[in-house]
Amino acid sequence: RVKENGKNNYMLHSDDMDNIALHKLTIQHEMRRALANNEFILYYQPQYDLASGQIVGLEALIRWMHPERGLVPPGEFIPAAEESGIIVPLGNWVIEEACRQNKAWQDAGMPCIPVSVNLSFRQFTELNLTGKVASILEKTGLKARYLEIEITESMTMDVERASKCLKELTELGVNISIDDFGTGYSSFHYLKSLPIARLKIDRSFVRHIQQDTNDAAIVAAIIAMAHNLQLQVIAEGVETQDQLHFLRSHRCDEMQGYYGSPPLSSANVLELLQEKLNRPALPTYH
Ligand code: C2E
Ligand code: MG
Ligand code: MG
Ligand code: MG
Repeated sequence: RVKENGKNNYMLHSDDMDNIALHKLTIQHEMRRALANNEFILYYQPQYDLASGQIVGLEALIRWMHPERGLVPPGEFIPAAEESGIIVPLGNWVIEEACRQNKAWQDAGMPCIPVSVNLSFRQFTELNLTGKVASILEKTGLKARYLEIEITESMTMDVERASKCLKELTELGVNISIDDFGTGYSSFHYLKSLPIARLKIDRSFVRHIQQDTNDAAIVAAIIAMAHNLQLQVIAEGVETQDQLHFLRSHRCDEMQGYYGSPPLSSANVLELLQEKLNRPALPTYH
């Protein structure tokens, strides 16, 4: 199969390279087939308001239901999807599926909360992303305020271009979050010039919040800065009650992590929403 793809032949000069290139070609071919075959599914991880304990959002996280390999996590195929460009149709599928599912929950009488989707750099630079998002919202009937888009800091590097794109999305009514905040390219310039609603503190800072005074200082500073800039702030990767206490005592707005819930199938989300319809989902203050 590698031989047939002339474009990549010159790259193969060792057994290792052979395997890597073959793996890439196989995975790209497999992803095209999988997209046509409906093998991708979205899981959803609840986001909790720290003051009320209520579920206030859901992050859509893609998985691949592979016929032989089982449930494949995104870390194993998103990089190849980005490199090959398949991320554009795949990413559009994610946006549409998340909007369709969120509208279906709303139609089933569940509380109306936003669903957030992760955007790749390639999608962000696609011509007319806003037009695509607008047509998906129209097709699925989901109101724009119930869709949120997560970008990473590196996508703001070209502030002028990011500004144009994010302004358009914001004018539609879609909110923008900065994912993995603190791990990427960090210029504070974009924070004041781009229409951003929310910062998501990367889980690497949250993990050792109890033991590492530097991490604790960084998290406290991000929360304070976000609030001074009138931004919402959510902590990722919260796994313990101690981490939760720290975040609450520093008035972090929201949290997402295994302590609340792992990512769930859509059926399990429905169950959770029904069950928690009017009850706090997280232990609240005493
Ligand atoms: P992310 O957007 O930062 O998503 C959070 C990741 O952290 C998820 O991994 C989630 O399962 C995991 N996580 C949540 N809570 C905890 C916790 O308490 N502890 C730990 N250790 N991990 C936790 P997942 O689902 O494997 O996704 C990994 C990454 O793949 C995502 O990071 C995102 O960058 C990317 N990704 C996922 N879905 C999509 C998608 O539809 N499109 C694009 N472009 N990227 C996606
Ligand atoms: Mg994310
Ligand atoms: Mg993240
Ligand atoms: Mg990420």
